[in-house]
Amino acid sequence: MANRAAIVTGGSRGIGRAIVDRFIADGIEVLTCGRGKRPADLDARIAWVQADVAKTDDAEMIVRTAQDYFGTIGILVNNAGVQLEKTVATTTDEDWELVMGVNARGTFNMCRAALKDMEETGGVIVNIGSVSGVVSDPSMAVYNASKAFVHALTRSIAVDHGPKVRCNAVRPGWIATGMVDGAFALADDPAAAKADALQRHAMRRFGKPEDIANIVAWLVSDQAAFVTGQCFTSDGGLTAASPLQPGLF
Ligand code: NDP
Repeated sequence: MANRAAIVTGGSRGIGRAIVDRFIADGIEVLTCGRGKRPADLDARIAWVQADVAKTDDAEMIVRTAQDYFGTIGILVNNAGVQLEKTVATTTDEDWELVMGVNARGTFNMCRAALKDMEETGGVIVNIGSVSGVVSDPSMAVYNASKAFVHALTRSIAVDHGPKVRCNAVRPGWIATGMVDGAFALADDPAAAKADALQRHAMRRFGKPEDIANIVAWLVSDQAAFVTGQCFTSDGGLTAASPLQPGLF
């Protein structure tokens, strides 16, 4: 790749951390961000800014800071996201602001800020969506909708900003991070809910953050030079399965 500098949002932990670690291993310079302070265990080669992608000024500051560090930015990965377990009926205005603010507006803010230069210099954007933007996880209405927004925005950027910019999304299924632990903790019987969920995966395991980092690494590489405007599911077969359960037939 001509340009080896990347911004990855939300690299303090989970999937984002796996992506930044993979980029560093692949020789890509990385700046990442989160709302908190720089995590003590973040690789010293990774640049950090404390910022909230939901805020337009912060998003522009993240891009400017990365340019100050590295010059031209060739890669943007929009990974920062928050989850909320509520139906429409119980979602408050504050909930809406938080979830749509980070997942939808945050992704938009970062794309808009990065595209100002990428339109000229070229680049690759990968947005982290979710299978729940395609099939609805129960009691996660606004989260599900926010991820459907991410998928649609991905296609629009590909169409409007090609051929200089490629833009794709990854749709993870259940990936073992704090976010997933939070979802199971809300079940009446978390252990039973986890066992049932595992049984519904053809791969009989949840995903690892590295599973998602592997797809992102391919999408930003020249191996994917003819790939744009697409959403790639990595869910261990969860959404390939019919809802009919084999044991009952
Ligand atoms: P985590 O909660 O483990 O990590 C989320 C990261 O995003 C943290 O670094 C967090 O840092 C950062 N972040 C959150 N809000 C903001 C903000 N406003 N500005 C900047 N950074 C922010 O989540 P996961 O690693 O599990 O998820 C990562 C992405 O993958 C999300 O977009 C999520 O929706 C998506 N996903 C995850 C799945 C899973 O099963 N885990 C399944 C499908 C999709 P901080 O809190 O310090 O700001």
